[in-house]
Amino acid sequence: MRVLVVGGAGYIGSATAQCLLDAGHEVVVFDSLVKGHRAAVPAGAEFVQGDLAHREQIEDVLRRFQIEAVMDFAAFIEAGESMKEPGRYFRNNVCGTLNLLEACVSAGVQRLVFSSTAAVYGIAEEIPITEDAPLHPVNVYGESKLMVERMLEWYGRLHGLRYAALRYFNAAGGRPERGEDHHPETHLIPLTLQVALGQRPHIAIFGTDYPTPDGTCVRDYIHVDDLASAHVLALQALDQHERLIYNLGNGRGFSVREVIEVCRKVTGHPIPAVEAPRRPGDPPVLIASSAKIQRELGWRPRWTSLEDIVASAWEWHRRHPQGYGDR
Ligand code: UDP
Repeated sequence: MRVLVVGGAGYIGSATAQCLLDAGHEVVVFDSLVKGHRAAVPAGAEFVQGDLAHREQIEDVLRRFQIEAVMDFAAFIEAGESMKEPGRYFRNNVCGTLNLLEACVSAGVQRLVFSSTAAVYGIAEEIPITEDAPLHPVNVYGESKLMVERMLEWYGRLHGLRYAALRYFNAAGGRPERGEDHHPETHLIPLTLQVALGQRPHIAIFGTDYPTPDGTCVRDYIHVDDLASAHVLALQALDQHERLIYNLGNGRGFSVREVIEVCRKVTGHPIPAVEAPRRPGDPPVLIASSAKIQRELGWRPRWTSLEDIVASAWEWHRRHPQGYGDR
């Protein structure tokens, strides 16, 4: 299939673009490079620089390459930042994706796989979280993704758009040649590994008074390649299904302190940590049940050990201490 990967120069988008190529699809990457990196785009993919703010740019690409399916990774992704700059998140994540949906309808593209997030659930009543759990985001980032999920439902009903919304838990890990490189970096694992590289003096633990066993937030870390393989499966499944919603995680939670400890073990560096206030918008615990996609599509995460996931990230960071080196 000819697939447009929007945001395909980013962390998860570029890994998925590679996975699509490996599965025999043709890939066009569309990315503004505001956050993404040209060097992250796999060699076998076409690249078009463009922005979801301009609907005509998207429509042009869809028609020019006769695109049959779209995967949408283009979004601002920082929960903490979204609580300071809500307008940026609604404009980019909601209005930008609306332009994409309108362009798809206009160009006759009827399949879309959307990057959603565990943040749509907010503070979960039951752990692990299943797809039918209540949707009450506690940060603007999660709200912006939920708004797109709701738009997708209407576009499905009214325009026949077939879609999958994949709710990721915490993406992590890398490959020797491709990894996580955000500017500024805000995520726990890359920041902790930057301490081990000597690029930061310490890691801050945001909140130690959460209702969790050690007082720090608990998250479910999933390797980026396992996320990528789920996208390829979901795309294929849209042949038979009109609407798919799946959680993607490993089903195991690790506290911030535990993640830092694993990073110490993997790197052999003492990694000093300092306790800091809570970061607004952080739910205490997010752990996925991915039973539904395992049952229905046969997806299995290949990376089930946090130590292995962190080791794969460490390999990328050691080989690329300045990331892609373009910032
Ligand atoms: N976190 C932290 N220190 C940092 C960065 C993150 O304690 O420097 C915490 C954050 O508050 C959250 C967890 O680590 O509880 C995972 O945060 P991250 O930003 O990696 O992912 P998120 O869960 O927000 O998607």
